[in-house]
Amino acid sequence: MSDKFSPVLYKRKEDCCGCTACYAACPRDAIAMIPDEEGFEYPVIDYSKCIKCYNCLNVCPIKKYNLTRINRNSAIQKFYLYGC
Ligand code: SF4
Ligand code: SF4
Repeated sequence: MSDKFSPVLYKRKEDCCGCTACYAACPRDAIAMIPDEEGFEYPVIDYSKCIKCYNCLNVCPIKKYNLTRINRNSAIQKFYLYGC
C-alpha cells in the first residue's frame, strides 16, 4: 500500500476560486467540477481514480499564493530573529 497522502484541494471554500486548473491538470480525469447550492463549481476528487501525482496541487494558484505568503513571512520572521 502506498504511503503517499491523498490530495486535498481545499478545506474551506475561501481556499478555492473555482479556476478549474486542477481539473484540467489531472491525467486520470479524477476531478469533477460540481456546483454547490449557489451554482458555483468546486472540484471534487474521485479518490478511486487518483494516482497521487499531485499535479492538481502543483497548479493551484491559491496554494501557490499561500506558500509564497508563508515563505515571505518566514523570511521576515528570520530577519527579526536573526537579523539576516
Ligand atoms: S493527485 Fe493527480 S491523479 Fe490525483 S486528483 Fe490530483 S492530478 Fe488527479
Ligand atoms: S486549482 Fe485550486 S483554486 Fe483552482 S479550482 Fe482547483 S482547488 Fe480551486
